[in-house]
Amino acid sequence: MKSRILLSSPHMSGNEQKYINEAFETNWIAPLGPNVNAFEKELADYVGTAGAAATSSGTAAIHLALELLGVGYGDTVFCSSLTFVASANPILYAGAEPVFIDSEEETWNMSPVALARAFEDAQERRELPKAVIVVNLYGQSAKMDELMSICERYEVPLIEDAAESLGSLYKGKKSGSFGHFGIYSFNGNKIITTSGGGMLVSNDLVALDQSRFLATQARDAAKHYQHSTLGYNYRMSNILAGVGRAQLEVLDERVQARRDVFDRYVQALGDIEGVRFMPELEGTYSNRWLTALTLDSEVIKITPYELIDLLEKENIEARPVWKPLHMQPLFEGCKFYPHAEGDVVGERLFAEGLCLPSGSNMTVEEQERVIGVLRKHVYRVAV
Ligand SMILES: *Cc1c(COP(=O)(O)O)cnc(C)c1O
Repeated sequence: MKSRILLSSPHMSGNEQKYINEAFETNWIAPLGPNVNAFEKELADYVGTAGAAATSSGTAAIHLALELLGVGYGDTVFCSSLTFVASANPILYAGAEPVFIDSEEETWNMSPVALARAFEDAQERRELPKAVIVVNLYGQSAKMDELMSICERYEVPLIEDAAESLGSLYKGKKSGSFGHFGIYSFNGNKIITTSGGGMLVSNDLVALDQSRFLATQARDAAKHYQHSTLGYNYRMSNILAGVGRAQLEVLDERVQARRDVFDRYVQALGDIEGVRFMPELEGTYSNRWLTALTLDSEVIKITPYELIDLLEKENIEARPVWKPLHMQPLFEGCKFYPHAEGDVVGERLFAEGLCLPSGSNMTVEEQERVIGVLRKHVYRVAV
């Protein structure tokens, strides 16, 4: 059996152990501690926000952002449809209702046209959302200028789900640093990992302090245990923050490695008619967390699912593009705004999309194995 090639596997730098040892030697085996404080400061410096708060997951960071914006029962929140379920689950945790917004072609991310329409509708019904969650898919920034100007017009705060886009740039500024809040994930498959963890970033230091309070069971300033608000146990452990510090040191190298992976795929497959790689919008720089492409079903007869099975036979992991959330049974009945009447971009990307193994530690030989399978089965059918 050939060795397994994973979609995106953890890639340690070797320095993680140093920070873990420090934590052990000082017996800081707790949620919170010097590694957490340092990791927060180092990450905020890297992305260019005033501060950061480390959390137990990216999902927890989104939940805290919604809490800080006062999202609660009966509120609505606009959210990208083409994304992982974790982008929207915290809306349900908060007792609010998601309204899903379609993608556009150039970034695969939230369509400003659809967002504008959703706002006009909401304005008419006097039901403006409490927040908008914009996702940066597979490392590609959404059209932040357009999206932010719409949100500003209605004075609705924006949360940037940058779980997949740490290290990416939009017009020279780090992805995730644009919204009122940004969130990152350090799950095992992300561009850098703490095995599990996340980060909430903002220029609002008061809000970040409040997030730390909420994330540690919302304990009031009293000698006894006193609580006036509902809190959570959402902080990051000092050991895992040590892993994160070492990972952050090599983030730019990881971005370069993933971009190299992407370039090799384009070189090897870009000449096949009907194969279209995820674009990179002018003025943006994607971390290319995953190499994603679409197979035009008009000219290429093999489907992404058939390819995923063929790759699996060679012990290679590939995945479809996220199934849009407006198509998920969990969110049945939720409102959805397509990019244009009769043109649901997210559904087409889902039907035709494929994510290829993209790990920064994948060798050129391993990538050749993936390319070999694809070149054998992906070709234009004569008409
Ligand atoms: C991974 C991911 C999350 C959630 O992060 P966790 O750390 O796994 O909770 C949220 N949104 C998107 C788009 C993701 O890819």
